[in-house]
This record gives sequence, C-alpha cells and structure tokens, in this order.
Amino acid sequence: MTLPPRVTIVEVGPRDGLQNVSLVPDTAAKVGFIDRLSDAGLPVVEVGAFVDPRRVPAMADTEAVVRAIAQRPGTRYTALVPNLRGLARAAGAGLREVSVFGAASDSFSRRNINQGIAESFLGFRAVIQEAAASGIRVRGYLSTSFGCPYEGDVPAERVAELTDELLQMGVFEVAISDTIGIAHPGQVWRTLDAVSSRVPFERVALHFHDTRGTGLANVLAGLQAGVTTFDASCGGLGGCPYAPGASGNLATEDLVYMLDGMGIDTGVSLQGLVEASTFMAPHVQGELPSRYLKAAQAATMRTRSERRDA
Ligand code: MG
Repeated sequence: MTLPPRVTIVEVGPRDGLQNVSLVPDTAAKVGFIDRLSDAGLPVVEVGAFVDPRRVPAMADTEAVVRAIAQRPGTRYTALVPNLRGLARAAGAGLREVSVFGAASDSFSRRNINQGIAESFLGFRAVIQEAAASGIRVRGYLSTSFGCPYEGDVPAERVAELTDELLQMGVFEVAISDTIGIAHPGQVWRTLDAVSSRVPFERVALHFHDTRGTGLANVLAGLQAGVTTFDASCGGLGGCPYAPGASGNLATEDLVYMLDGMGIDTGVSLQGLVEASTFMAPHVQGELPSRYLKAAQAATMRTRSERRDA
C-alpha cells in the first residue's frame, strides 16, 4: 500500500470550533489560541469568519483577531467570507486567503446561508473574481457532502459535480466536508472515486467530524485514495449549529498522533497542540473531546501524583 509521505493539516479550530460555543472566548483568548497553533507548526490556520455579527456573534471580532495575532512565516492564515462585504473586510484586515462556504444539498444551503446552491454559487463567483483581482486565494467548502440532516443521502456524483464546478470557478481547493459526522470509509472511497473522474486530488481536502467515531478511519480511507490535505480542529472543538447532533470536528491532536505513528510528516508538534488545547479549554466549555488530549492530560496527572507519592 502506498501512502503519501506528507500531509497538510488545515486547522479550523478558531473558526469552525468557536463559531457555535455557548461561552465565547474574548479576543485575547482567541489570539492566545491562534498564536499557540502557529507555534505548533500548523501550515494553515482558519482564524475566523467575516460574517454578519448579528447572525454569528462569536465571530464579530475577527478583524481584531487578525490584527493581533503574530503571523508566523510558513503558516497561511485564512477566514470564511460569505460575500463581497466579507471579502472586503478580510482584505482590509490584510488576509491573503479566504474561503467560501457552499453545500452539496439544497436544503442545508438554504437553512445555513439562506440561498440555494445555484444562487450561492453565483455569489461565490463574484467573490472569487474580486479576490483574484486583489491577489487573494479562495478555498471552497462543500458541506453536507456525505449526508444532509434534512435530505438524507447526497449522491457521490453530485459531490463530484459541485467540486468540479467550484474549481472551475477558480477556488484553489475544495474541502469536501462531512458536516454532520455521518461518513464512513466505504462512503469516502465511493465519493472519492466519483470525484477522481473529474478533478485531481491535489485540489481536494477532506473535512471530517468524529460524531460517530469514524473520523480517523475516514482520514485513513482518504489517505489510501491519495488525498493529502485534511481539516481538523485543535482539541476537537466545535460542531455545527444547523446540523442537529453534530458535535466535534476531528481533533487535530488525534489526527497528528495517527499520522506521526504512520511516519507521515505534517510538520506539526503534538506537544504544541496539547499546549494550545490546554490554554483554550478554560475559555470554552472546559473539557475538550480530543482523545489524545485526554490521554496526555491523564498521563500528566498520573506523573504528578506519582511524584507526590515518592
Ligand atoms: Mg466542521
């Protein structure tokens, strides 16, 4: 079996992980989190979203966050933009990369962004053209690619079509996303098989949630198919406000632990991720779902109590 020697991890914790938390961390906490993620060596960090602050109050301070973080050479910083207004804000904050958020199911698209797929793609086209004129790269998300909370199954051929369409519109990469954490490896293979007949995997990323415990297995399926870019959220922060029961992006620690063990290079420090999660935990709900993080913290506590006993 041939597996890729190197994988790019896109850290989505500060955006996907924090957009829906009940306790919203203040700007300083977000900056502290992002700076630690940069220190951990992550190649890409999605720092926030330039969305309507009345709809997503947790992301209202994204400009302030971008201005305050220490941008590490070698890390790309990006943010979600729903429209031209969002793009102008991102450009004003100095970002050179943004992402648009599309869906593979019409019902989800309407509930999430108040537009059907066709209408939303028209808007993305305008964002992509305007961004290109300013030298800003655009990534595309394709949410609900493995199933929709309202429509159920999403055909693999539909995912392939929309991925192709986004790339033809000018995005540099499409993150095929399992918004509700329903995917399993068989489905990943089927979807990627359909996608591979239309687009090269260098332009494809996979975004998994661990809601049903299949997050890492899905990554392995993606690796076997030849995908080399994966989204993850430090600590396993986040879910999706429009996807009932969707808790927990795939945790970056769990992903890096697996890839390290397989000898696949990420350039990311596992210890650095644990430091970022440990810093962030008290600013959100307290306990983060990453299994690696829990194991690391348990080992630290055991060591401390052994020292006390000695
Ligand atoms: Mg997510």
